Amino acid sequence: MGTISTLDSGKISFLKKFNGMGFKVDEESVSAVGFYNGIRFTISIEGCTYMISTSVRSGGLLPEDDFLRYIVSEVDCIRDAVYQNNRVTFVMQNVLFAEKIMNSIIDAMGEVSELLKKSGFINVCEICGEPVDSIESYDINGRVFDLCDDCHEDCDYYVQARKCLDDSVRENIPRGILFGLIGGLVGAAGIVLSINVGGLSTWLGALLAYCLLIGYSVGSKKMSRFGLIFCGFMTVALTYLSCRVGFTMRYVSWAKGYGEHVDFLSAFTNFYGIYKRDGLLKGFVEAVSYCSVFGLVLVAGDLAAMIRKRKTRPTDVIIEIPEERHFYTAV
Ligand SMILES: [Zn+2]
Repeated sequence: MGTISTLDSGKISFLKKFNGMGFKVDEESVSAVGFYNGIRFTISIEGCTYMISTSVRSGGLLPEDDFLRYIVSEVDCIRDAVYQNNRVTFVMQNVLFAEKIMNSIIDAMGEVSELLKKSGFINVCEICGEPVDSIESYDINGRVFDLCDDCHEDCDYYVQARKCLDDSVRENIPRGILFGLIGGLVGAAGIVLSINVGGLSTWLGALLAYCLLIGYSVGSKKMSRFGLIFCGFMTVALTYLSCRVGFTMRYVSWAKGYGEHVDFLSAFTNFYGIYKRDGLLKGFVEAVSYCSVFGLVLVAGDLAAMIRKRKTRPTDVIIEIPEERHFYTAV
């Protein structure tokens, strides 16, 4: 399995809550796959968007737009439906609390499966659309596919030819940058504060990076390589700035203790002069570099996880679900 990125680990523990319902979590694709009411569902999370998807046909036909629109209007907790080939993806309404989204997902699967079954939909292979017995869920390049044996055999070509569900969520870079900066400022405030109370922990560098990553992914709805590079750059920049602000503040109050009035702005601009003269530069340089390194390790870990996920690999069955056998009689 290998490493899971920081951002994914929270999502995976959320998805594990569905284990009790017979769902299986696939860490690579950050998805949970299982049967609900006889329909095979994949629960997945992109950024902060929760989705449920299923590959179905009725009488050999795909669901029509009107039918999908009808589902979106009927099921309160669903806000959108998109389909690509035989997979229909329902996008959940955003809610703030994990407990609430869990209930919404269960409700949505219940209502969607009822509506699908009422109209004669059954599970099919995501590529050929055939309701054969051999369908399994596979993790291919970090994405769950419901495939029959034949399609699984030649799916490498197919998968490379398209980008599947990724397209259903678009990255909003300006919003990501804005939210990332807000998160980063929270982390930077933590560094300034801890310098002033006297004990800067290098872990705060990692916290700063974490705030940036969360902010960016919440804002952009999707973490990309650009997002990670942005977060890495800002980790260093904000660490430097917050250390400089924090050290200046400490210097000003220290001087005040000696009855000397030092103006913050002039101390900030003349920072190197003062710190060099008083031999304090080493402490500052150490603080900036340790915090930056701790932060960058976190970002680099996420980058490595992302690159590994995107790489084309030979396919393996990762999810075998015992109920599969009775599925086609359930309709
Ligand atoms: Zn097939």
